[in-house]
Amino acid sequence: MTKSVTNSELFKIMEEWAPQHLAYDWDNIGLQIGSYSQKTTKVMVTLDVVEDVVDEAIEKDVDLIIAHHPMLFKPLKRVNIDTHQGRIVRKLLTHNITVYAAHTNLDSAVGGVNDLLAEPLNLQSTKVLVDVYHEDLFKVAVFVPVTHMEAVLDALNKAGAGNIGKYSHCTFQTQGQGTFKPLEETNPFIGSKGELEKVEEVKIETIVPHTILSKSVQKMIKAHPYEEVAYDIYPLKNQGNGFGLGRIGELKEKVTLKSFAEYIKKAYDIPSVRVTGDLTQEVKKIAILGGSGEKYISTAKKKGADVYITGDMTFHTAQDAENMGLSVIDPGHHVEKVMTEGTRNYLKKKLTTQNVDVIISEVDTEPFKFI
Ligand SMILES: [Zn+2]
Repeated sequence: MTKSVTNSELFKIMEEWAPQHLAYDWDNIGLQIGSYSQKTTKVMVTLDVVEDVVDEAIEKDVDLIIAHHPMLFKPLKRVNIDTHQGRIVRKLLTHNITVYAAHTNLDSAVGGVNDLLAEPLNLQSTKVLVDVYHEDLFKVAVFVPVTHMEAVLDALNKAGAGNIGKYSHCTFQTQGQGTFKPLEETNPFIGSKGELEKVEEVKIETIVPHTILSKSVQKMIKAHPYEEVAYDIYPLKNQGNGFGLGRIGELKEKVTLKSFAEYIKKAYDIPSVRVTGDLTQEVKKIAILGGSGEKYISTAKKKGADVYITGDMTFHTAQDAENMGLSVIDPGHHVEKVMTEGTRNYLKKKLTTQNVDVIISEVDTEPFKFI
């Protein structure tokens, strides 16, 4: 049986992938216009919310538009329906269409825009190019009677605690003796009031990122048999998983800049690219950053990139890159359209029991024509 779903449930699903804390402060992500509580049966994914996209949504009975670029960026001081933006707002409101944006949070997310862009390049040992956010890590240590060790371990693992790199279920356990004396008004699981109790216990230690700390502790306490659970939480100086913009990695084999640029055209299905640098040189280490990435040319260079792929490159920055010996391939900003298919695939995978149709807008929002 299929279930209906509200916008806020869909936003939550999107934020499991692209959590809000990964967005830049200047960004305006999340609900743009519409409702959290309204039910949705049809979602349309688009890069931009232009008027043609809104018309398409109306025609196709769409309830929710998920966009990459925020529709409302500068504060809206008035809604004048004689203007282009005012018309869009009116059309959305009169047709009960909600708009939600996942922008820089989706750029930085694992499997987000930058990973989707890097995918066709088959890069080896890919890393984040520009660090935006590092998870704070905590060590949780809990004292459990031996009989309940498995249950507590299981609860912690299910909450997502104990992941290190590509390993899950990472814990350390030491056995020892716990003591306690139940006082008046207690209801002890073991022992009796007023008597000192000694119990074989295990200390379980595991690592937990801050985003799931409270959930992990709650689940751990729930699985624990004691009325009062003894546990410690230590903040760690270890660096947690890094998230950020762009990716950098190596091609399996060196290729000339010219043939690599040709490959980019095919990979992103675009008619042309702009390239700086010697077309006959061989390149191997590739940095890529979707959207406008010219302010990160030095980062790409410092991290050893031979080529930096990014959109909206301006004349003087292209010259700066050339002077520092970094080749640039500009495929345009619109290659971020990989986001639409990526988002649809993600939602389809997540929404197996809900009654929601996910479509991609057919409006081409690329403003440039190539002639
Ligand atoms: Zn963009």
